[in-house]
Amino acid sequence: MTTTQQNLPLCEQAQGFLSREAHHLFIDGQRVPAESGQTLTTANPSTGQVLARLAAGGQADVDRAVLAARRAFEGQWSTWTPYERQGLLTRIAQVLDERFEELAQIEAMDMGAPVSKLRGAKAALMKMLSFFASQATSISGETLMNGIPGNVTTMTLKAPVGVIGGIIPWNGALNSQFWIIGAVLASGCTAVLKPATEASLSVLRVAEILHEAGVPAGVLNVVTGSGREAGHALAAHPNVDRVAFTGSTQTGRSIIEASTVNIKKLQLELGGKSADIVFADADLDKAVPGAAMGVFANSGQICFAGTRVLVQRPIVEEFTERVLAFMDTLRVGHSLDDAANLGPVINQTQLENVLNYIDIGQNEGAELLRGGHRLGGELENGYFVQPTVFGGVTNQMRIAREEIFGPVLSIMPFDDVEEAIAIANDNDYGLGGAVWSQNISTALRVLQGVHTGTMWVNCYGYIDPLVGFNGTKLSGYGSKGTSAHMDTYLYTKSVYIQL
Ligand code: NAP
Ligand code: MG
Repeated sequence: MTTTQQNLPLCEQAQGFLSREAHHLFIDGQRVPAESGQTLTTANPSTGQVLARLAAGGQADVDRAVLAARRAFEGQWSTWTPYERQGLLTRIAQVLDERFEELAQIEAMDMGAPVSKLRGAKAALMKMLSFFASQATSISGETLMNGIPGNVTTMTLKAPVGVIGGIIPWNGALNSQFWIIGAVLASGCTAVLKPATEASLSVLRVAEILHEAGVPAGVLNVVTGSGREAGHALAAHPNVDRVAFTGSTQTGRSIIEASTVNIKKLQLELGGKSADIVFADADLDKAVPGAAMGVFANSGQICFAGTRVLVQRPIVEEFTERVLAFMDTLRVGHSLDDAANLGPVINQTQLENVLNYIDIGQNEGAELLRGGHRLGGELENGYFVQPTVFGGVTNQMRIAREEIFGPVLSIMPFDDVEEAIAIANDNDYGLGGAVWSQNISTALRVLQGVHTGTMWVNCYGYIDPLVGFNGTKLSGYGSKGTSAHMDTYLYTKSVYIQL
């Protein structure tokens, strides 16, 4: 594992954007400061240095943005045909295809993911936009039979829910904001987005670019600011019809409480502690890098990271050796280091959390096989943690039960299918999971037995909007992708027509 310094110069557009003295809110097609005049700072996690000053939005700003979104929802935007909304999404895809490098650089500086990895996410974004463009022209109700005497025609109509509050986490904002934006534009809703303070910049920049590309004023608004103030104001706002939230289970609970004000509809994507189950008959050439990157990708800051790697007992030694050898090929570095596979974690607090869990694991009796420390040298000012592997982990240990959200892989031995399923299910979360086996019966038994919203077989982490991504248990509810996703941006009207 080697470390290298920043070596990529920023493009002119990214540089111009990042050199702004302050980043304002984006409301009703305009960049405006917070009414309080207050700002927050956010750092570059690769260097620990202040990167940007954000408007500290609060209740008054959320009120303004929600009003703009409501007016847009009821105004000219409501007359756009499905074909016009589809055309807009197609145009947006073309513009973002051209501007993606700028956005990837802004995101890399803001949240620390290697720019090379972010570039790789462009194809996924293009797929999402083309999925939502197709959904814009696929909204339909039903004509229904009825038992009413006389000549009564009955049907259902679908209509956009209204103003959406979108609360976005920091760990992948560049793409994940489009789960909300895409559905909003396809359905005819409008939105107020509250990005995480740690990664607001790509969301602000996207709002500006989309406005230039033809999104009408008020349809997409962005209010930056702390979760406790701006986020809570949005979740509790009586004029917001629905909230889409991705983040921690704890914050999810407070969003549910806040939603009772006007019985908001919710989509909640929360934490995870996914089990990645490797059987002795697995193709280890694929299972080893698959399981390792299932944890280490994005420095472990992925909700569906397969952090509990269950390995069948006869191959524990071989699997472990091969994972450690694979780790020698990973480069940890500055997010603008073109050759880096892994970047830093998001901030000092997250760094301390991860190191604290590594201490807890050692105190609980797990065997620290690799990593375990903050990286120094050229990277000493950034929030870099060595990719870490624990062996001999049991499912009772806190490192196996709690979400760490860092590059920490726990190897847990098991004997047979039943035990693997039991261990996988002995957790409060139910987000992702995988099974690696060349025996189709084994794979089927595991994928049917594990209580989780998404399962992969002989692969990890694919997400396609046509297939979707789900959670259950403490990982939340509400699909991402498929027509089920669109359905939550629409409501159903039952219609009775006496002729
Ligand atoms: P978080 O603290 O829950 O924050 C998520 C978002 O909610 C941020 O925009 C945050 O704003 C805002 N927020 C915080 N407190 C709020 C409140 N009381 N009311 C309204 N909004 C509030 O989570 P995080 O630390 O950013 O992200 C890590 C967690 O998210 C992990 O547990 C991870 O598993 C989960 N996650 C889940 C998924 C998924 O798809 N299921 C995806 C990514 C992350 P500020 O940060 O600006 O305060
Ligand atoms: Mg940041």
